[in-house]
Amino acid sequence: MSTRPAPSAPLQNDPESPIMTVHTASPAAPTSSPTAAVLGAHPQATTDADARKAAATDRSGYIPSTLPDGVVVARGVDDVVEALRLAQAHGVPVVPRGAGTGLAAGASAHEGEIVLDVSRMNRILAIDPVEMTAIVEPGVINAEVNAAAAQHGLFYAPDPASTAICSIGGNIATNAGGMWCAKYGVTRESVLGLVIVLADGRILRTGRKTIKGVTGYDLNALFIGSEGTLGVVVEATLRLRPKPVRTETLAAYFADIEAAGRAASAITAARIQPSILELMDGPTLEAVDLAEGTKHRELGGAFLLAQTDGYGAHLELDEIVQAISPYATSIHRAADAVEAEALVKARRDAIPALERLGRVSIGDIAVPRNRLAEAFTGLEDIAAQRGVRIFSVAHAADGNLHPMLVVDPHESITEGPAKAALGDMFHLAQRLGGTLTGEHGVGLLKREWVGEEIGETSRSLQQAIKGVIDPAGILNPGKAI
Ligand SMILES: Cc1cc2nc3c(=O)[nH]c(=O)nc-3n(C[C@H](O)[C@H](O)[C@H](O)COP(=O)(O)OP(=O)(O)OC[C@H]3O[C@@H](n4cnc5c(N)ncnc54)[C@H](O)[C@@H]3O)c2cc1C
Repeated sequence: MSTRPAPSAPLQNDPESPIMTVHTASPAAPTSSPTAAVLGAHPQATTDADARKAAATDRSGYIPSTLPDGVVVARGVDDVVEALRLAQAHGVPVVPRGAGTGLAAGASAHEGEIVLDVSRMNRILAIDPVEMTAIVEPGVINAEVNAAAAQHGLFYAPDPASTAICSIGGNIATNAGGMWCAKYGVTRESVLGLVIVLADGRILRTGRKTIKGVTGYDLNALFIGSEGTLGVVVEATLRLRPKPVRTETLAAYFADIEAAGRAASAITAARIQPSILELMDGPTLEAVDLAEGTKHRELGGAFLLAQTDGYGAHLELDEIVQAISPYATSIHRAADAVEAEALVKARRDAIPALERLGRVSIGDIAVPRNRLAEAFTGLEDIAAQRGVRIFSVAHAADGNLHPMLVVDPHESITEGPAKAALGDMFHLAQRLGGTLTGEHGVGLLKREWVGEEIGETSRSLQQAIKGVIDPAGILNPGKAI
């Protein structure tokens, strides 16, 4: 059993950050309305303007035009149950919120809605080193699960680049991916069971505490990735794994991003299983260098980070070197863990480095892994045609690209060239046999393309499922499906 101190303030509340200016047409919370009835009755509710502002959006670059009417800051399951019971009774829409690091405006909230913030429910309740599981509350920060697991020689595999600032509840709601997902799979592969509060306040337990189990429909899988539209996660049983006995890391540089994409595809084609395979293009390297004082851009026009783990890590890295040598201009094997961590850090720093340059809107398309180079070429075409700046990173082993548009801090990403470019990215992915979102979710920003990808039969079935689980439609309406 361990507890952790309150998380440091999320970056989105940073007053220095250009992306966080929320322009609002509704500074004062209403005093007589369904939301006022809920907020007036809940002991943990606030209508404080700063709290509403801080809870209005996430890290997607989306600027809501209004603020939510109030925020319930849950301290425990009872607070969540009470909030949802009240909201259901008064027909008030509720936006669940973890750490607010989402990149799809899934946690964004508006006038007429209340935010249910579970970030203070942040205890690690138990770690079982023999079964290799952890039971956690939703607000626990991802990296803190790993820090606690490390004390037992274990680790939690889904590690978004935002590991230091995102919450497990948000990871579950978005089915988050990360660097180690190249080998160990995304969040869904590491969540054994959940405790969920449904829209009417009932408690639902999904999954189980055992590694295997197939009794009934897999509701666990349904709730993971449902973006807060089906229920609020209040507890999770996570699968931990033994820390690898050995890891080996390399950085390779290329003339351009297409060559790097071809090299990444060659690794997949050679059936090598890296634990990390990350790409960054030249403009992103420049931004990272500027922010961190590093010199990656001098070494090439694109960067590939590869890590292998396990007893044969060094042999597997040899195979990677062989697969990428025809494409790379230079390859550097990390001499020790410190050097390896510095390379991983360069990739983790990419988004914050770009946020220094302006408002960032992050695409999240995924394509078949043998089509990475074509995807990068297509993105260059979109940038030229739409007159926008696109910076690209990718979880290359999963074919998951993050083309990032950087616009003026006061420019909207939901209209004009930025919006058009986001649509172009989706159609590019579709042409290559890919998908609209690999790991960030649909949220508010990508919803208009969902039907095009999944088709009418799937969409109406999904809406029917939502109708059964949340008949009043109070949970995160207008998001995900
Ligand atoms: C620098 C940076 C790097 C990132 N790198 C990655 C990456 O590598 N991989 C990746 O997948 N993502 C990445 N992200 C995106 C983000 O960190 C993830 O989507 C993360 O899972 C969101 O967690 P959160 O706690 O911040 O959720 P929030 O932003 O608070 O919410 C996200 C969604 O989850 C819902 N939600 C939150 N908590 C709950 C709950 N307890 N119950 C039900 N619904 C809930 C919200 O309603 C919303 O729809 C990155 C973000 C940043 C800023």
